Amino acid sequence: ARFSPPFIDAARPAYWVPDQDILSCHNCQRDFTAKLSKHHCRACGQGVCDDCSPERRPVPSRGWDHPVRVCILIHMFHVVYVFSFLIVVLILHKPRIVLKLLAFHLITGF
Ligand SMILES: [Zn+2]
Ligand SMILES: [Zn+2]
Repeated sequence: ARFSPPFIDAARPAYWVPDQDILSCHNCQRDFTAKLSKHHCRACGQGVCDDCSPERRPVPSRGWDHPVRVCILIHMFHVVYVFSFLIVVLILHKPRIVLKLLAFHLITGF
């Protein structure tokens, strides 16, 4: 990972990778051009293209309570994490509890 000086901009969170340091998509490695615009993942702060950030979800750990852009890696991690968690709960407990946890997940985002 690259390290850059603290990025101070009122409009952009400090954890976002500065625009000038983002030359290509963090996920698919395609170079950003006038046609391929860069976006920031609200979860990890990396620059990704539109194709690699199709999902919107709340990121409470970053202070985003409403659905915001996240990269596909964060999304996949989240899906795998929740899925495996639910499988374990299903095995150990009753389906009623799974439904309660699912409702909790939908409300909190994590
Ligand atoms: Zn991409
Ligand atoms: Zn990300």
